[in-house]
Amino acid sequence: MPKLNWKILTKKRDSSTQGLPPGKEDLAWVTNTVTLISGEHDAILVDTFLSVQHSKELVDWVAESGKNLATIYVTHAHGDHFFGLKLLLDRFPNARAFATASSVAGMQRQIEPGFIKSFWEPRFPGQVPPQLVAPEILEGDTLYLEGEELKVVELGHTDTSNTTALHVPSIGLVVSGDAVYNNTHPYLAETDENTRNEWLRALDTIEALHPQAVIAGHGVLDPDSSPCHIEETRRYIRDFNSVAASTSTAVELYEKVLALHPNRVNPGSLWATAKALRGNAKVAPVEMKLEVVVIPVASVERSKDFYSKVGWRLDADFHFDNGFRVVQFTPPGSAASVQFGTKMTPVAPGSSRSMYLVVTDIVAAREQLASHGVVVSSVFHAGEPGANFEAEGSRIRIGGPSPDRASYGSFATFSDPDGNSWLLQEVTTRLPGRVESGGTLFASVSDLQEALIRAATAHGEHEKRTGAHDEKWPVWYAAYIVAEQAGKTLPL
Ligand SMILES: [Zn+2]
Repeated sequence: MPKLNWKILTKKRDSSTQGLPPGKEDLAWVTNTVTLISGEHDAILVDTFLSVQHSKELVDWVAESGKNLATIYVTHAHGDHFFGLKLLLDRFPNARAFATASSVAGMQRQIEPGFIKSFWEPRFPGQVPPQLVAPEILEGDTLYLEGEELKVVELGHTDTSNTTALHVPSIGLVVSGDAVYNNTHPYLAETDENTRNEWLRALDTIEALHPQAVIAGHGVLDPDSSPCHIEETRRYIRDFNSVAASTSTAVELYEKVLALHPNRVNPGSLWATAKALRGNAKVAPVEMKLEVVVIPVASVERSKDFYSKVGWRLDADFHFDNGFRVVQFTPPGSAASVQFGTKMTPVAPGSSRSMYLVVTDIVAAREQLASHGVVVSSVFHAGEPGANFEAEGSRIRIGGPSPDRASYGSFATFSDPDGNSWLLQEVTTRLPGRVESGGTLFASVSDLQEALIRAATAHGEHEKRTGAHDEKWPVWYAAYIVAEQAGKTLPL
């Protein structure tokens, strides 16, 4: 009969990731698991819980075992595995807590007040114990329980760096930390392709121990602790790697992995991972383009003549039986248009003032308008702030372009027959932050051809790297071309 026994305690908690895409609400939770390995008198606890409440329940559970808690071993430096430590040590003052040196260093970073405040508190409001401590550094790789050896197994990067498992050879038990997950989405947010491969090697290491039971740090409510979860976790990481190589957005990555593993709990972990790996996963704001401004006019025909004369493009002139009529004009190069007509606005004709027309050369623009027969003011600059909104003849409209020809500094004005007024402004260099970085423009067919050829060449390299044909090449091309023009990092 083996000298040692083990048992586990699992506690369900909410997922630490909020705001995941809808559809998997019933799976949006996870358990943490701790393990008590005991001999005749003494016991070793592996890992603790996070919250004050779960820690209290853990204290009671250990006390009820009737064993003397000699040691607490913490497998890795994530708060959900050691934040309860102080409460345990207060209740069992003879126990000593240990972890490897690199884990202890990681835990010290986890419990820095700034990190608690910015990372843990928002995720677990009011649940983080007020006093947090890190364990002592374990010398060597062996713990003893009533003469039996328990071996610390260095696993390298699994869900975080420098993780470990605890192996109890005499009973064929591996407490895997977070290297093995039981029907739960693994936390891959801290990984890249290299560290995911490190994780796969960690699974090989655990498998090579031929355990009879493997404790997963996170799993379902009543986990079976079967070694089959080594292979299950391996399959998940491999699936993740191949999906990651063939998707470009967080949502796509999330949905494709989810489709392969629909029933695992805690999809929030996958969502956190997708966001971390695919950058900004905030849903892009819905575009709202200011496209049409309605101007009030008294005579539709007269206005139509005027704006035709100005040289703007007539887009529409629609009449309806009920007397409604709409006319639309667009200034050259403008993304926005104006509309006027009948039954369109209760506003008095001529009351739209100082509508900006931005030009790159104020003198040329003024000359062109004048050549069309438009009565346009002379070019001026502001003698005082706000002069551009003053009427012609104001003393603070100073004649001539701004002396240094500063961008935004030179103006001219004209009005339509009703008195709706237009303000020409010269803009040569835009203020920072006022240029849409995603705007992608091609001046000619050949410019576009060359961009496509560059994207195709880079995509050939991409396929060589991944070793797979990419069916979604148009998505990749588009991302490449937009990034290239915006001067951003190109996709690989
Ligand atoms: Zn964990």
